[in-house]
Amino acid sequence: MAGPNGKKSFYEEAMERFHRAADLIHMDPRVRMELEEPDFEHIFYVTVNTRDRLVPVGEDELPRFADLRPSDVKAGDALEPLADGAFILHRRALLSADITMRQGVINIPGKGVFRLEPGGPRKFRAYRIQHNQVRGPYKGGIRFHKDVSLDLFKTLAADMTWKTAIAEVPFGGAKGGIKIDPFAFSREEIEHISLRYVYKLKNLMGPFLDIPAPDVGTNGEIMAYMMRQYTDGERQHHALRGVVTGKDVRIGGSEGRSRATGQGVVYCLEEWAREKGRSLRGARVIIQGFGNVGSAAAEILESLGSKVVAVNDAHGTVFRETGLEVAALMQHVHGNPQNLRRTVAGFPGGTPIPKDDFWSVPADICIPAALGEEIDGRVAEKLKVALVAEAANGPTTREGDRVLHERGIDLIPDVICNAGGVTASYYEWLQNQRLEHWTEAEVNGRLEQALKKNYALIRDVARDQARRTPLYDSRSYCVGQQIDVRTAAMVVALKRIEAHYLIEGFSQ
Ligand code: NAD
Repeated sequence: MAGPNGKKSFYEEAMERFHRAADLIHMDPRVRMELEEPDFEHIFYVTVNTRDRLVPVGEDELPRFADLRPSDVKAGDALEPLADGAFILHRRALLSADITMRQGVINIPGKGVFRLEPGGPRKFRAYRIQHNQVRGPYKGGIRFHKDVSLDLFKTLAADMTWKTAIAEVPFGGAKGGIKIDPFAFSREEIEHISLRYVYKLKNLMGPFLDIPAPDVGTNGEIMAYMMRQYTDGERQHHALRGVVTGKDVRIGGSEGRSRATGQGVVYCLEEWAREKGRSLRGARVIIQGFGNVGSAAAEILESLGSKVVAVNDAHGTVFRETGLEVAALMQHVHGNPQNLRRTVAGFPGGTPIPKDDFWSVPADICIPAALGEEIDGRVAEKLKVALVAEAANGPTTREGDRVLHERGIDLIPDVICNAGGVTASYYEWLQNQRLEHWTEAEVNGRLEQALKKNYALIRDVARDQARRTPLYDSRSYCVGQQIDVRTAAMVVALKRIEAHYLIEGFSQ
């Protein structure tokens, strides 16, 4: 249904594929109704007290403070840099300082001229969308980002319902997070915000109810805060570790989980290369996003002999014709505390190029591993690759999809390509329930088989190739005609979900 201005929402557009696949399998009308809207949409607010900040004085104001006596702040770590150029002023900085302040402005040699902005309470809009739980507890990531909305989280939550069904893990779908630029807050403030988020959500989450994981802007550290908040004061807190996944391995996380999404992308690439008679050795790859997923995929691909020739992120692009040295790039982005935005920009081992040129770097494989809607029709026209492997969620627009198809560029859709993360999250959750610890080889062995099996099954459904193999049976999924891979993946998901409603029935 279109909105008041006749324009469809992002969610409604995303659900068009659901409806197409539902038509193809002649989905029971009541099951369709159950799935077309989320079970629950939680929108709430978290408040925290923020610290005092030193915020750089604007260029226009600087002359007024040209004669301001320099202050001596022997602060050490008591002045904490933020990525937006400000500093958190921890009060211990004042103990040994010799300070001159005029109209709240202070001049710190070597750092700049700053205005002191007193901290105080701040309010953030938070979300948790629980889309469907017929196959198991709600499952999905937590995103901390400034551009989030109800519409976006609804779409991503529904995607998780399809993805968990495709990956055949016993979970449903959810997504949530906070509208915030996490780079503009200190570690301590982020900790408090994360704790408060779980404080509000506690009754709605749990190892058998709703299980968050890291997504854009969150990580294992934040998952640890969330687990602590959820289990705090609980006598049997060890039994509750499975309330979040993506934890540090030392506190109940799984070996292989932090790299699992990138690893899963590579397993899919191996299947694609095998089918096409290509080799990943020597293959040229361009990657957008060098966070958890993009950097892991880059490392694994390099170890297989591929060349990562260009990487783009939110703040820049680096290029090297003969392949970037991934270990050095990792160190530059994730191993350097001065690199506050954790960006590839400024990497000395590559040449900076404009983002627009990134898309037209000739390569074999393009891996979008950043945000959604990056590959639109214009970008799809520019690409000089044989395959787009969607590591990010929803990176290709409908127009982008159409152009890729028209240009004969292969596509591995997100719900298959990045399912390694949720699959390894399931392994983490299982280990938590059993109080076990599996080796990385065990995790990766299972992950490889699971992803490659589903990849092959979906390819058969797309080609309408009904058959039974030792690993899978595509006969009950084929719809009697050839369909695109995205729709085939949705068909597999919907058949698995529908079975629960049809066999278990509906409670009234
Ligand atoms: P991350 O926060 O670790 O990294 C995000 C990366 O994207 C950063 O390098 C950032 O600079 C870049 N980026 C942000 N905005 C950009 C822009 N406008 N242009 C170019 N680059 C931009 O996040 P992540 O966990 O690596 O997730 C990346 C994608 O993979 C997301 O779409 C996420 O939903 C998806 N995903 C993640 C997981 C997981 O296990 N982390 C699992 C499945 C899917």
